[in-house]
Amino acid sequence: MIWKEEVECMPEAKLAELQGGYLKELVPYIYNNCEVYKKKLDAAGVKPDSIKGIEDIKRLPFTTKEDMRDNYPYGLFSAGQQDVREIHVSSGTTGNPTLVGYTKEDVGLWSDVMARTLCCAGAEPGDTIQIAYGYGLFTGGLGFHYGALEMGLRIIPTSSGQTARQLKIMQDFNPRVMACTPSYILYMAEEAKEMGIDPKKGNWKIGIFGAEPWSEPMRAEIEEAWNMLATDVYGLSEIIGPGVAQECRNKDGLHIFSDVFYPEIVNPTTGEEVPEGQDGELVITTLTKKAIPLLRYRTRDIVCINYEKCRCGRTSPRISKIRGRTDDMIVVRGINVFPSQIEHVLLGIEETEPHYQIVVDRKAHKLDEVEVLVEVNEKIFSDEVKKLNELRAKIKKEIESVLSIGVSVTLVEPKTIERSMGKAKRVVDKRTV
Ligand SMILES: [Zn+2]
Repeated sequence: MIWKEEVECMPEAKLAELQGGYLKELVPYIYNNCEVYKKKLDAAGVKPDSIKGIEDIKRLPFTTKEDMRDNYPYGLFSAGQQDVREIHVSSGTTGNPTLVGYTKEDVGLWSDVMARTLCCAGAEPGDTIQIAYGYGLFTGGLGFHYGALEMGLRIIPTSSGQTARQLKIMQDFNPRVMACTPSYILYMAEEAKEMGIDPKKGNWKIGIFGAEPWSEPMRAEIEEAWNMLATDVYGLSEIIGPGVAQECRNKDGLHIFSDVFYPEIVNPTTGEEVPEGQDGELVITTLTKKAIPLLRYRTRDIVCINYEKCRCGRTSPRISKIRGRTDDMIVVRGINVFPSQIEHVLLGIEETEPHYQIVVDRKAHKLDEVEVLVEVNEKIFSDEVKKLNELRAKIKKEIESVLSIGVSVTLVEPKTIERSMGKAKRVVDKRTV
């Protein structure tokens, strides 16, 4: 089943015409309603009425994460605050978080692309879905919720955590579709076995996993453990949340809903388009959003794109799994973590040195763990244990309040952390992805 066949299977020329029509309306809308973008477009010499088709997108300026941060909270909004119905906040690099807003129409768009996502993975109206993505400021839970409502699924909104309860609910209600992070589904399999539950025995057909990087071996492990089809979902809150791209049953790239989220793949250094099939940075323009539409947003995710029609019948282009990042952001349990956030905390604590390292690990069947190694100065390190413990607790508390995830902190002697002549190696990611 294809949720919106008329656009998901649209011939290329007709799709370009549709996208061009949207862009012709979008640019004047943004120009007339957002002072920040008006300045950017003026500086780029783009007259809003000069947009004739989708090919003109290349004349538009890029939007970056810094633009969002610098204009926090409302600078990039095109809709008035009275029309904003929902806001979500995600962590930023330092200081200001990223704020995204939705008008009623935007929530409608989100519901639509999430219904397409669920359908693309193989869900069918009437199915029961367990949504174990976090509900709240994180867009995962509510995004799936809106899509499932739109599609006519029966929703069990368990949110994340409380694993024993999740497993009990699974047994009692036999959902056919599961949505959560890939590391959490593996963790639940392990917990299930410990509780004497056979994860293979459910009514499972499909899992929709995302919000953190994962690999083909991990997919095989999930499919084996749960006896389900494990598919990959892609999204980011700046664009809409989950619902930007989704794998179909062929598991050969993620269909990006390009009629509304126009993709370009560029060289991250020059900003020039790279040829089809080559790796580059994914850039997305939101063609129909109202509250905070973005022009050529630099996602910093490295992917390649394939415009060939898929065996499933969809013509929407497919992006690869994320192959890397242009910055040093890491994603842990669905939360974006920037080393600079930790640096910021440490700079505010007198006793520490600005030398640190973040170690992320995914032990077999456990959730991702973050350990922060922090150098302390000679004087402090020779202090009594009680003082060291107090300092460690203080650092832990401050980092956790900034990152919104649990971490462990280890204090190390001066000069323990390897120095680099070039870019410091702030992150050691031991997860096998
Ligand atoms: Zn397909």
